[in-house]
Amino acid sequence: MPTTIKERVVIASASGAWLTTEDGHRLLDLPAGLWYANIGHGRERIAQAAAKQMTTLETYHLFGIHANRPAIDLAERLRGLVPVADASFILTSGGSDSVEVACKLARRYWQQVGRTRKTVVLSRTGGYHGLHGFGTSIAGLDFNRAGYGTESLIPETARIPLADLAATRTLIERIGPGNVAALVAEPVVGTGGVHPPPDGYLTGLQALCQEFDILLVADEVITGFGRTGEWFASHRWGIEPDLITMAKGITSGYAPLGAVAVSGRVSEPFMSGDDAPIFRQGITYSGHATACAVAMENLDVLEEEDLVARVRALEPVLATAFGSLAESPLVHEVRAIGLMAGVQLLPDVPADEVIRGCRERGVLTRLLAGNALHVCPPFVITPDEIRFAADVIAAALDAVA
Ligand code: PLP
Repeated sequence: MPTTIKERVVIASASGAWLTTEDGHRLLDLPAGLWYANIGHGRERIAQAAAKQMTTLETYHLFGIHANRPAIDLAERLRGLVPVADASFILTSGGSDSVEVACKLARRYWQQVGRTRKTVVLSRTGGYHGLHGFGTSIAGLDFNRAGYGTESLIPETARIPLADLAATRTLIERIGPGNVAALVAEPVVGTGGVHPPPDGYLTGLQALCQEFDILLVADEVITGFGRTGEWFASHRWGIEPDLITMAKGITSGYAPLGAVAVSGRVSEPFMSGDDAPIFRQGITYSGHATACAVAMENLDVLEEEDLVARVRALEPVLATAFGSLAESPLVHEVRAIGLMAGVQLLPDVPADEVIRGCRERGVLTRLLAGNALHVCPPFVITPDEIRFAADVIAAALDAVA
């Protein structure tokens, strides 16, 4: 905290892929905020959609029989976008919320169908799933789990390796598949340093889940809404999860909102028959009408401007520009996929100095786990701006060499 307060960078305004600080410095927003500004900053039409909704009905909650139209319309629209069979949606206020809901629902599902020992939630080493109770407990980055008095806030969690299917099978067999409720996985590990899945990994993981009757939860809080060049990373790698968590790109950051796509299999015990139990999970702002109206407008922008296809077109530009940084003696490895990359510096390279050097040269980046620089620009970035950002990082690296 002391350093944070001393070096605070206050962003005052933004447009497209560019930020302006309070003291008038222009910076290219390489992390798109925190992986969220997919359509870019400063879109007038989103503000207008929010104002229209707020002056009609700011929100009305979704408890019991109550609802609001934007929430219903958004859920209907999302149904057509996700690779989840017979999907219904639980709307939340962000990514951590979505993870909380998905983990609770997975465990609640098994209780409801009579497999009451299935409670353990597995997650990938290196994974990040937000910082609520479940997100903290299943954190694959140890520093996010440590310091709360027990090994994890919520017991009955375990970490699988980052990408080793054989070791994952061994672990499941040791825990006992009859004890495992769900496996939560980011298709591309983000905060852990940007780790794309090896060929066949995600389909292999899905096959393991099917074999052992474990619910597969794809955490697409970063990868959802176009980041890997498909609407969802699950599309790109050909999986059909039981649940998908999403947030961030659902509104491109213009309002706090998240959602969980729930497959027909998982929702069925709560939907059929007059005595169906209530899944007791809802918060005041679940399905906030203004946030949902903003999400609808954001989806319009993504579709009208064909921005998901733009990510596909920019993928090789980003891979080439940032890939060339791997030649630097200070860089361990560059991993890129879609419009995201992690530039992993050697462990002893002072990343803070590199990041400061980038800011002085007009590019904002930040640190991910494993001493990696965060690259995940808004989809509206141009090829020239991508090359500019890579050149700036190269110059900042040279300056500390
Ligand atoms: N899941 C993943 C994969 C994330 O990257 C994040 C945030 O970075 C979260 C969950 C938590 O989302 P939020 O910060 O909106 O609560």
